[in-house]
Amino acid sequence: MAVVNLNNVQKYYPASGIKAVTDFNMEIKDGEFVALVGPSGCGKSTTLRMVAGLEDITEGEVKIDGKVVNNLAPKNRDIAMVFQSYALYPHMTVYDNMAFGLKLRRYSKEEIRKRVYEAADILGIRELVDRRPKQLSGGQRQRVAVGRAIVRQPKVFLFDEPLSNLDAKMRVQMRVEISQLHSRLQTTMIYVTHDQVEAMTMGDRIVVMRDGFIQQIDSPTQLYDFPANKYVASFIGTPPMNFFEGRIEAEGESMEFKSESFTVSIPAHWQDDLREYTGKAITFGIRPEDLRLKGGEGSTGDAPLIPAKIDLVEPMGSETYLYLTTGETSFIARVESHTKCKIDDQLELEVDMNKAHFFNQETEEAVSIQQRNQ
Ligand code: ADP
Repeated sequence: MAVVNLNNVQKYYPASGIKAVTDFNMEIKDGEFVALVGPSGCGKSTTLRMVAGLEDITEGEVKIDGKVVNNLAPKNRDIAMVFQSYALYPHMTVYDNMAFGLKLRRYSKEEIRKRVYEAADILGIRELVDRRPKQLSGGQRQRVAVGRAIVRQPKVFLFDEPLSNLDAKMRVQMRVEISQLHSRLQTTMIYVTHDQVEAMTMGDRIVVMRDGFIQQIDSPTQLYDFPANKYVASFIGTPPMNFFEGRIEAEGESMEFKSESFTVSIPAHWQDDLREYTGKAITFGIRPEDLRLKGGEGSTGDAPLIPAKIDLVEPMGSETYLYLTTGETSFIARVESHTKCKIDDQLELEVDMNKAHFFNQETEEAVSIQQRNQ
């Protein structure tokens, strides 16, 4: 169990001139599950590998349990890492794969046996211990890789895209198993993934990264409800948030957002934050589930409306995605499953303005996120 601190951590690759990680600052609490998420190349793995000791830290410091580990070899950091590739020894049995690290550390035979069988029981792979990796499915191999980490009883588990090689169904199952493992072991875990659903379902807190910079660190619900900027807003959530360009206009008590094709009135609680944008360009964001068909399920009849034409209807079973256009802007609405809507229909969508987001068009920062947090 350990606290992990990253203080002003930076990583340059001088040969290529790439700055992979800039100013990474975070305290990961004892027993916390933190997911690092972002598109390929955003610096997640490099950050994790610096914690592991597999990459030099160019600047800043990494502490594990209060101790600076910058110059400590990986084997002395009391961490265990699970990779996407599993990295199992093909000629060894499952038992020997799991026991290998302990043998190197000269644990007694009995201790090794106890730990390997304990881990095998936790992961439900006891009956597989005599097999070799090629006799296992992808999911079973990944369990062995996790088992090999568990037997070490490390202070911190590091996972680098551990589920990327599995099929969709197995990924969901292993996601649940790793979460259950975390509840059971209560060990600090840092988990790298490009998959926002994985991050959202597993992480106590999520770090969203872009081009080596942290964009936001928050709980899954806070990230979803109060994204700090347009990038986070569009990265978290499927289908992604819709954005409309327009301007704020105010007259007396009333304030409106006007786009090329529609006008919505701004609720009173937003008006103080938006006043400085009066007459200026702004981006309005609304998630697909915060739009409703006028007259459909949940329709209130008094919400502001967006007129639109349907480009595509995508039935998902439990709900339907409507791909729409208003003016020149494309957007998506998630509506009830048994809608009779069809391509080329003209219709109106009600906007739940309590769920509206506004972003500064130049900086792309969310407008007054603190106010909404209250
Ligand atoms: P992610 O894990 O988010 O996909 P990485 O941390 O692997 O991203 O990479 C971050 C950036 O650093 C990328 O631009 C990548 O090309 C670069 N990079 C990673 N490893 C090296 C390396 N050994 N040498 C040079 N550049 C690297």
